[in-house]
Amino acid sequence: MTDTAADHNGPEPNRLKFEVAILGGGFAGVFCGQRLAKSLKKAGVSPREAVIISDQNYMVFQPMLAEVAGGSISPRHVVNPIRQLCKGLTVLRGTAHDIDLEKREVEVNTGSFSAGVTIEFNHLVVTLGAEIDLSRVPGMPEHAYLMQNVGDAMVLRSTIISRIEEANAEYRPDVRKRLLTFVVVGGGYSGVETAGEILDMLLSVARYYTNVAEEDIRVVLVHSRDRILHTLGEELADYAGKKLSERGLELCLEDRVKAVTATKVYLQSGMVIETSTVVSTVGTAPNKTVKKMCDTYGVEHERYRIRANEYLKVPGHEGLWTAGDCALVPLADGGGEDCPQTAQFAMRQGIYLADNISLEIRKEKLKPFLFKGLGELASIGHQTAVASIMGKQFSGFIAWFMWRTIYVSKLPGLDRKLRVLIDWTLDLFFPRDINLLSPKYTSLFRHVHLEPNDVLFNRGEPAFSLYVVQKGEIHLRDADGKAVRFIKEGDYFGERALVHGGGYLLDAVAVEQTELVSLSGEVVLPFFQSSRRFRRLLAKTTAQVSAEAEVEAVVRNLHTHTLERSVTKVMREDCATLRSDQTVQDALILFKKRRYSVYPLVTADRKLVGVLGREDFFDFIKRGDVSEDTKLERIDLMHLPQCDASATVQEAIEEMVRAGRYKCLITDSENCLLGIVTVMDLLGEEAIENTLTVKADQ
Ligand SMILES: Cc1cc2nc3c(=O)[nH]c(=O)nc-3n(C[C@H](O)[C@H](O)[C@H](O)COP(=O)(O)OP(=O)(O)OC[C@H]3O[C@@H](n4cnc5c(N)ncnc54)[C@H](O)[C@@H]3O)c2cc1C
Repeated sequence: MTDTAADHNGPEPNRLKFEVAILGGGFAGVFCGQRLAKSLKKAGVSPREAVIISDQNYMVFQPMLAEVAGGSISPRHVVNPIRQLCKGLTVLRGTAHDIDLEKREVEVNTGSFSAGVTIEFNHLVVTLGAEIDLSRVPGMPEHAYLMQNVGDAMVLRSTIISRIEEANAEYRPDVRKRLLTFVVVGGGYSGVETAGEILDMLLSVARYYTNVAEEDIRVVLVHSRDRILHTLGEELADYAGKKLSERGLELCLEDRVKAVTATKVYLQSGMVIETSTVVSTVGTAPNKTVKKMCDTYGVEHERYRIRANEYLKVPGHEGLWTAGDCALVPLADGGGEDCPQTAQFAMRQGIYLADNISLEIRKEKLKPFLFKGLGELASIGHQTAVASIMGKQFSGFIAWFMWRTIYVSKLPGLDRKLRVLIDWTLDLFFPRDINLLSPKYTSLFRHVHLEPNDVLFNRGEPAFSLYVVQKGEIHLRDADGKAVRFIKEGDYFGERALVHGGGYLLDAVAVEQTELVSLSGEVVLPFFQSSRRFRRLLAKTTAQVSAEAEVEAVVRNLHTHTLERSVTKVMREDCATLRSDQTVQDALILFKKRRYSVYPLVTADRKLVGVLGREDFFDFIKRGDVSEDTKLERIDLMHLPQCDASATVQEAIEEMVRAGRYKCLITDSENCLLGIVTVMDLLGEEAIENTLTVKADQ
């Protein structure tokens, strides 16, 4: 059990300075960037002086995600590259994880292999949107599907097809029913659109499945209010509800989800729905970077939506601007109301914000945000939409056609517009694609085979995995190529670099044919972070690494004559041992009498079996199947470095350094335990020697 120590300092990030830094490449950020490309020129500033930082290199047209989930449009059609949308601006793909309003800097993580970037700014535009937190409903984080980004929509689409495929092959009626029941939570735009699309897709593909009838399909929409799409006028919302009900959507209004399991949804009304597919479109939570900034600098907020004034500036913080879902912007003539969290407001706010930055640089009067909304539009599936635009209400195919036209008008470049239009036109005449393109992600658990001298990783590389040696041996080598750790069958390594980040400090090389199991950090890290026992395991490894350094330091202080002595001259023979046929009760008695951290376990004829660690013992006795009479041989034992009686102190110390331990067991040629040498004993010996030498000199 050992590890490659991580470099905690890491390389210095790249430092870049900009007039304007926009955080977030969604509606607000991208439209702000597009406008800045023009308006900055008016202020005599090059657009390159503005940077847009987003954790994805594309902008997602979220209002169309439901159609991706329903398979009526391709995922490619809802994403557009930010570099093409914001021509002229500097674009940086990375995660803004820390905002320093005093130093006027933002720290950006640009990936595992790069050093990151520190952005200095004069104006900071925060358009980081919102996140989803499902933790308030038990079972929701584990079992619910989300509809936040393209990946979510693609996963949902393949899940729906997978469920219908399974149902087609299933003979038990109750399981088939459960597989064909889909629950969508939330009756806002995304919930209604998603439910409509799921229903549409299932009904249109059912005819390809011999064992699935249309009437077997059940889609339920759960909403806490008495009407879906409550921000639309009552008439349109009722129209949408009626249309969806006619097509078979089951509406559960004025109800909430209480808990979710792998096979059931429990509602507050007491209703229980048997299903294996729950989609959540609720649970909006603040963006973490925004939350941290508000807490650190006392930025005014409401539930971590940043309070902006009518000019989209954040009062009390020079050069700080905000827009979109993470902002609270007063609605013009809204009587104290704030703008809703919608794409059309985010877009317009972004545009106003860009103009105001340009005006501020030119020291001119800023423009208040006067946009009141053009209306609302929701696609409800089956080439049907509902719209309320500039006081006029539309529904059905006309509204749906308007919806798509608006989208195409927002696409960058003629080529992109044409591609999407041609695809959509063809889709009108052909059936939906039911290919189950579920992405087969590379397993988070992998087998690795290495030939002798194959390098697993080099110093400085970022850590992605924890490794366990199944067969063979790995050497961890320092900068001089010297092997400093030897990792054998059953040992694991890599966890410290994984947990602390910053990359490996040693090279890992196979010395013979070696088989490893690698576990991705995505799997391992949550274990270390959430389990006390795993953390203790890590602490042990850390202690081992520091023990190694300390033992090395001790060696440097020992006299040559001590190092050359036989281990039998310095070992302690009366070390406390336990026999493998003794019981838990015997161990408890010994532990009370003699408080050591480890106890060698021997057979009746003193043959060494292993070492019992005090902590491992107490973990063991917590198990339900352990009683006072349980034999100690059932416990997983640890191993301490071991030397035979002919070894010198120097050799024993080398073993201790290698294993990162303060103790070494001494055995004879028959593997019988003779004694134990500890670093403390060696220091004691040295002290006595020194005293004797001083006395002799006197
Ligand atoms: C499924 C769905 C359907 C919707 N339907 C409609 C609709 O029909 N009509 C409507 O008006 N609105 C709709 N909305 C709401 C609309 O999409 C949002 O109001 C809009 O996206 C808000 O824009 P924004 O720029 O504030 O945030 P976002 O569009 O969410 O953009 C935030 C950006 O910041 C990036 N980011 C986040 N954290 C970091 C970080 N630390 N570092 C770097 N980048 C980061 C994100 O990746 C993202 O690109 C829908 C939303 C969803 C999810």
